Amino acid sequence: MKDTIIIGGGPAGMSAAIYLRRFRKDVTVIMKDCGALGKTEVVENYYGFNTIGGCELVKNGIEQAKKLGVEIIEDEVINLSFDGNYVVKTSNNEYISKTVLLATGSNRSKLRVKGFEEYVGSGISFCAICDGFFYKNKKIAIIGNGKYMEEELNVLKQYTNDILIFTNDTKIEVDVDFPVINSLIVELQGNEKLEKIITKDNEYFVDGIFVAMGTASASDFATKMGAEVSGNKIVVNAEHQTNIPGLYAAGDCIGGLLQISKAVSDGAVAATSINKYLRSLS
Ligand SMILES: Cc1cc2nc3c(=O)[nH]c(=O)nc-3n(C[C@H](O)[C@H](O)[C@H](O)COP(=O)(O)OP(=O)(O)OC[C@H]3O[C@@H](n4cnc5c(N)ncnc54)[C@H](O)[C@@H]3O)c2cc1C
Repeated sequence: MKDTIIIGGGPAGMSAAIYLRRFRKDVTVIMKDCGALGKTEVVENYYGFNTIGGCELVKNGIEQAKKLGVEIIEDEVINLSFDGNYVVKTSNNEYISKTVLLATGSNRSKLRVKGFEEYVGSGISFCAICDGFFYKNKKIAIIGNGKYMEEELNVLKQYTNDILIFTNDTKIEVDVDFPVINSLIVELQGNEKLEKIITKDNEYFVDGIFVAMGTASASDFATKMGAEVSGNKIVVNAEHQTNIPGLYAAGDCIGGLLQISKAVSDGAVAATSINKYLRSLS
């Protein structure tokens, strides 16, 4: 069992890992890529560097953390749960820890179609384990792709057999007992609640939609754990703890200044409070 699993290896996650390791904690970082800095050709405003490539800065952080003994795993986290300890499920494995730091950056995949924003919370959900129960034996759609969608679908199957899968994923390996629709969604319609999905070729009446596009974000994991989320930002206290004991968040996923310097600082603060929390357990 790990002391801490950090989901995300950008400036927030890796800074926290470095601090935690120096506190002699057993820490693992799980990351799938360079995050926001992978899209950044040159960074020119970070202290100590005149210019540095975004991914190069992330790689420097990885090397520094590895030298200290941080375990770094390249994988995608697809689920987070709690059974007395935190259980972090990736595409390839499962890991257990006493605490978790969410540091996945700022994205939550949205559907950029008319009607989407209007029905979030009124028929559109981002969390199968939280809201699946409300759709027992109802007609629902899941919109998404990849391993994360498969994971969410596995949860939804426990509640209903009436599921439409909307995906652009041609290699989908899910249970094909469900209809798979590849046609482009153009609009979502309803009245008080969402009622139908309109694609380029057809329209489909549904009671609800679950969104699981691309990679699960910090706010997806926080929502699953029952942690407070505001918009797509995770609510934390000054110590970067969420309202769930042992669950922390840092960097762009908590909002504020979306810059490297603030992410690095968040990571350091979160690591210090995680260390304090771990000491209180022993
Ligand atoms: C185009 C662009 C240019 C920018 N330029 C600058 C700049 O010049 N200066 C500056 O200070 N800031 C800049 N920023 C902002 C800066 O990149 C971010 O503020 C900073 O990277 C946030 O750090 P973070 O650790 O919170 O998230 P990120 O750096 O986004 O790291 C997120 C990490 O989470 C991982 N992850 C996400 N989901 C999962 C999952 N499900 N499973 C496993 N791993 C996951 C990613 O792989 C990544 O390792 C720029 C951002 C962009 C997009």
